[in-house]
Amino acid sequence: MKILFLDQSGKLGGAELCLIDIAKPYAHSSLVGLFADGDFRISLQEHKIPVEILSNQAIKVNKDSGLLAALGSLGQLIPLINQVMQRARKYDLIYANTQKALVVGAIASLLSRRPLVYHLHDILSVEHFSTTNLRVAITLINQFASLVIANSQASKQAFLEAGGKSDIVEVVYNGFELKNYRISAESVIRIKQELDLQDKFIIGHFSRLSPWKGQHILINALAQSPENITAILVGDALFGEQYYVKDLYQKVTSLGLEDRVKFLGFRADIPQLMTTCDLVTHTSTAPEPFGRVIVEAMLCGKPVVAAKAGGVMELVEHEINGFLVTPGNPQELAEVINSCVHKPHKTAIIGQNARVSASLRFDVTTINQEISKLLHLLANNVQ
Ligand code: UDP
Repeated sequence: MKILFLDQSGKLGGAELCLIDIAKPYAHSSLVGLFADGDFRISLQEHKIPVEILSNQAIKVNKDSGLLAALGSLGQLIPLINQVMQRARKYDLIYANTQKALVVGAIASLLSRRPLVYHLHDILSVEHFSTTNLRVAITLINQFASLVIANSQASKQAFLEAGGKSDIVEVVYNGFELKNYRISAESVIRIKQELDLQDKFIIGHFSRLSPWKGQHILINALAQSPENITAILVGDALFGEQYYVKDLYQKVTSLGLEDRVKFLGFRADIPQLMTTCDLVTHTSTAPEPFGRVIVEAMLCGKPVVAAKAGGVMELVEHEINGFLVTPGNPQELAEVINSCVHKPHKTAIIGQNARVSASLRFDVTTINQEISKLLHLLANNVQ
């Protein structure tokens, strides 16, 4: 099957990392069209997935205003739509992976008469988007998409509640290459040395630095935890939220935690870093659509403390293969952290359970089969 994948971002967010795994089996006959250049293009090339930058013009990536801005500047988008449309004729379907890709893909799908698939990586609710933005997204999807792949039941539910059509939406979780999460003891020793954290209890937080990802919650919880506990914050501000990074540094200083919090920036060795941790925390203050980092930590056999909302509740069973805490509550997070420190045996069992359940549910081979089935069904129906 020949697929024209579209993504607006040049940066490596969760949706883009997911697309790499989805596009890989179709690499010989497909193309990923990006609306911006960056690390995502390099990563696609490393995976030998054909990629083309379809616009040199920077389109601002701002989740809240983005869709409206994209529609408002439809005139400016015409050259981009043209480029997509010309390419679309050589492909069986258009697969839009982000909201602006949806706008461009919808029009190109209409003009080139190619079916449109939309991979929904968001919770379409007012907690994440403006009402107008939501209305536009739902209208475009209902009008143009033949298939919506939602990344969790929570994303599907929000889509339906916002007025999305129920007969076009299917849930497929993100898939992961299991072998990438088997890390040697030598790697762990090396990373501990590099970070100078040999004798510490290490808590990891893996996410772009953004207010709703809630790194401040972990810092507040750390202030209520024993001295021997250190946190590593892995990730960078991807969408211009530098003010939040500044706030985080200030908070660390004002709480006197300079020796106990390390900012590592964006890293490509996530499985290695996760395996080095004793515990991984997820602290999103708004419902997480899926939460790749949670599954990745589970695959590394790590206990995860995650914020109980959205897709997270489909990943973690409290005190069985992880821990769930109230979003935005540092006190509760600190209590779970302290209990994990004091009950290492129970915590280790929860980490082992996490690896088993995540390996059974999120193997990329199985997930890609599910996607392939849906795409073939769609292709057969439109013929
Ligand atoms: N990630 C990464 N390097 C970093 C921080 C995060 O590669 O420094 C990856 C992380 O491993 C995960 C993805 O970025 O696969 C984030 O996905 P998630 O679903 O957790 O959040 P999103 O960014 O999609 O909101």
